[in-house]
Amino acid sequence: MNKAFDRAVLAAERMNLVDIPLTLDGIAEEATKNSWSYLQFACELFEEQARRAEERSRETLLRFAGFPYRKSIDEFDFSFQKSVSNRVMSEFAECGFVREKQNLIFLGPPGTGKTHLAVALGIAATRLRYRVKFTTLSTMVTKLSEAKERNTYSRRLLTYSRPSVLIIDEVGFTPLNPDEASLLFDVICRRYERGSIILTSNKSYSEWGEIFYDNEVLATAILDRLLHHSKTFVLRGESYRMKEFKEEKD
Ligand code: ADP
Ligand code: MG
Repeated sequence: MNKAFDRAVLAAERMNLVDIPLTLDGIAEEATKNSWSYLQFACELFEEQARRAEERSRETLLRFAGFPYRKSIDEFDFSFQKSVSNRVMSEFAECGFVREKQNLIFLGPPGTGKTHLAVALGIAATRLRYRVKFTTLSTMVTKLSEAKERNTYSRRLLTYSRPSVLIIDEVGFTPLNPDEASLLFDVICRRYERGSIILTSNKSYSEWGEIFYDNEVLATAILDRLLHHSKTFVLRGESYRMKEFKEEKD
């Protein structure tokens, strides 16, 4: 190590440029080997710092989102699930719906790809630097009701109201008692015309009353806000999980 390297690293540390100590040596070596001009050296060094910083902030956004798995539109087999098209999904992945604060709803039986598509669109949104939060409905209402008891409700509510995209997965798996239903209503109202929701459900809209123990008034109030600016995709057909299971057996 020479003196110039040490000085550069110290200065970089003062500016929180954490990648300089890791990259400076290698890039300087490349520069010597290829007889780069000073300008080209500076350019390569800065570009590498920018690339690494962007990668880190992308990873932070992905971690914050809390996806159950990371899958993309490219990994979705549209020849198996024909109710949606690659073209339409790829268009939504450009995130016009986020800018327009539109909601997307995926309905269908288990294993038809609802969570996969919701996650893929969520990941696409993080690529464009939008903040995304993934939650199942039951986790969200549990966290909100715990927060209510601990007097941290408004802070917890921000977790679900602030991100540009909130993914609420598995609506309809378990019915909500009136207190839980009012928590969901609160979130939907907070986000209404302010931020997108991507929601998945195994229940058709006509069955949504059941989720709220036949409280049709609340179900209608929630659906009314949810569906005002929205697009619904109804996925049909067999479970992809079953398909994979059968293939393993064969
Ligand atoms: P659900 O509709 O129950 O939310 P998921 O989206 O979680 O189902 O899909 C179950 C599993 O099958 C996941 O691993 C998902 O990636 C995969 N899967 C579902 N549909 C497809 C598809 N058309 N192409 C590729 N993988 C799929
Ligand atoms: Mg699912």
